[in-house]
Amino acid sequence: MVSLILSTLLEGWRRRCPRCGGSDLFASTFELRDACPGCGLVTRREEGAWTGQMYLSAAVTQIVAVVVMLVVFFTTDWPLWVSLSVMLPIVIAFCYWSLPRFMSTWVAVEYLTDRANQEPWID
Ligand SMILES: [Zn+2]
Repeated sequence: MVSLILSTLLEGWRRRCPRCGGSDLFASTFELRDACPGCGLVTRREEGAWTGQMYLSAAVTQIVAVVVMLVVFFTTDWPLWVSLSVMLPIVIAFCYWSLPRFMSTWVAVEYLTDRANQEPWID
């Protein structure tokens, strides 16, 4: 059971469908398809379903930003403007890289919860 959960979340993190694992869920970098082209799993089932993804993305990004800030402040003696010039691009690049992954990971979370609740549209 744990390995199923982890492998499903990993498929989401890899931007793939949590059900079939074989298809890219994105039409472009930030445009999630409405359904998986391989198996038809609907990715946007209801309004407000993205609230969890937004909280997940915001929480992890804030943790990364704090870690980057602590590393820069405690390992360098750079002036503030240099520190910000280094930290901001790192955090922005992390956001750009991770946002689609959080979106598809949230599709995997919804898939797992719907599967656990034995929703009729899952299989
Ligand atoms: Zn699929």
